[in-house]
Amino acid sequence: MTNHSVVVAGGGPTGLMLAGELALAGVDVVVVERRPNQELSGARALGISSRTIEVLDQRGIADRFLSAGQTAQVTGFAVTRLDISDFPTRHNYGLALRQKHIERILADWVTELGVPIFYDREITGFVQHAAGVDVALADGESLGAQYLVGCDGGRSLIRKTAGIDFPGSDATTSNILAEVEMTEKPPYGVHRSSAGTYAFGRSEYEIKGSEIIFKDVGPIGVMVTEPNANATTEPTLHDLQTLLIAACGTNYGVHSPTWISRFTDVTRQAAQYRSGRVLLAGDAAHVHSPIGGQGLGIGIQDAVNLGWKLSQVIKGTSPDSLLDTYHAERHPVGARVLKATMAQVALHREDDRTLAARDIVGDLLAMEEPRKHIAGMMSGLDIRYELGDGHPLLGRRMPDLEVVTTSGPRRVFSFLHNAESVLLNFVAPSVIDIAGWSDRVQYVDAEYTGKWELPVLGEVVAPAAVLIRPDGYVAWVGDGTVQGLTEALTTWFGRPV
Ligand SMILES: Cc1cc2nc3c(=O)[nH]c(=O)nc-3n(C[C@H](O)[C@H](O)[C@H](O)COP(=O)(O)OP(=O)(O)OC[C@H]3O[C@@H](n4cnc5c(N)ncnc54)[C@H](O)[C@@H]3O)c2cc1C
Repeated sequence: MTNHSVVVAGGGPTGLMLAGELALAGVDVVVVERRPNQELSGARALGISSRTIEVLDQRGIADRFLSAGQTAQVTGFAVTRLDISDFPTRHNYGLALRQKHIERILADWVTELGVPIFYDREITGFVQHAAGVDVALADGESLGAQYLVGCDGGRSLIRKTAGIDFPGSDATTSNILAEVEMTEKPPYGVHRSSAGTYAFGRSEYEIKGSEIIFKDVGPIGVMVTEPNANATTEPTLHDLQTLLIAACGTNYGVHSPTWISRFTDVTRQAAQYRSGRVLLAGDAAHVHSPIGGQGLGIGIQDAVNLGWKLSQVIKGTSPDSLLDTYHAERHPVGARVLKATMAQVALHREDDRTLAARDIVGDLLAMEEPRKHIAGMMSGLDIRYELGDGHPLLGRRMPDLEVVTTSGPRRVFSFLHNAESVLLNFVAPSVIDIAGWSDRVQYVDAEYTGKWELPVLGEVVAPAAVLIRPDGYVAWVGDGTVQGLTEALTTWFGRPV
């Protein structure tokens, strides 16, 4: 048995991001992935939202993703597109980029950071004891870890073995998704009928304005609603042909599928994100309909919330109880995503009453305040962790301002590239003393004369200082005094040296 500080179960987007976060903090981490390599069969995420792009930018890797995909106004709620180009962020858009590319880029980054990814290895169980977790692999070998993190997807073995409840609701809709050839050209785009939604597209496309222009090359992607939301058999080409005829009157000569899969709106969330030395993140902690395109993004953000906390606990600078703040902060974010997807599934139904509700929601979202409110939620830019009352920045994401430091202009996110925290002081230089935490928190005297603007909220009063956690959220806001600073530093970064 080899021992590691952390074993990450699953090398999907969540597990890879977590591994990167832990590696940046110098923690010994390995990823165990049952797939033979990073290749992904079947279609999954088509892109990521603004806050997820920001989170990648905080680590200095957003450009790798931006250069591989296409930015566009893809934020939306049910059938309504929400333009976020007026939001105060460098990334006031979404990024269209398929999950297979997102995973490839994340895997390259994690490999550069020196994390071993054990492909073709499957975790079959684990036993937790006072000092760690013994993780069993299908090949009969085992790994020892101080902590095990289940990033092993919606059917998580880690969640089940830990005995963590997964309450929620069963599927009410189901869709077959496939990559196929067709002898006739189908009508590209998304269509709705009384039988449900059906859509056709190609993997090669371009986004022009709000329109997707498919190239007439390559295999065809097809999606069609099934009448039975709780089918138990694997979907077949025959099922697809039958459903296409029911929805469109023809199956367009569908043949030669590369893969056929199914997704539903089953909606469940782990009751606890932690059981002792075992934690859950990503789909292992929450599953929901893909409508709204948030699953991969919140998995990445779970990882970024957990990584620095876990590394501090492993290094002994913070007590084990810091890990409880992971559940406290991320469970409500997951619950809100689940609620938003359930509402969107309901608005996608095609009966008269739903059409009436959809019209009224559309009218509301055409108004300024509702648009900002819902777009803030769908883009993830409005997330606020409960860190108490005070300045509006408290518990919210720090904007990526360009500040002037003694060594020249710097973007705020550049201080976070190594997953470290930073205290930015905007008043008289060196009035704040954080010597007891100087091994954990960077101290920077900075100048910033521009506006302080937050998405949805608008302009806020300029703070005298801000303490920014490694995940980019503001843990303390100074008003010219140091009131509350020692408590905030101790809560988030442990006792002073
Ligand atoms: C049709 C569709 C469209 C979607 N569109 C979007 C979108 O546009 N935007 C978005 O943000 N999200 C979208 N999602 C959701 C997104 O795909 C998931 O939320 C995301 O994949 C979750 O990542 P994860 O790493 O948590 O889990 P997964 O991607 O499921 O990864 C889990 C990994 O764990 C491995 N594993 C499982 N069990 C074991 C084991 N016992 N031992 C070792 N390895 C194991 C698996 O092989 C897998 O690689 C979509 C999903 C679907 C189905």
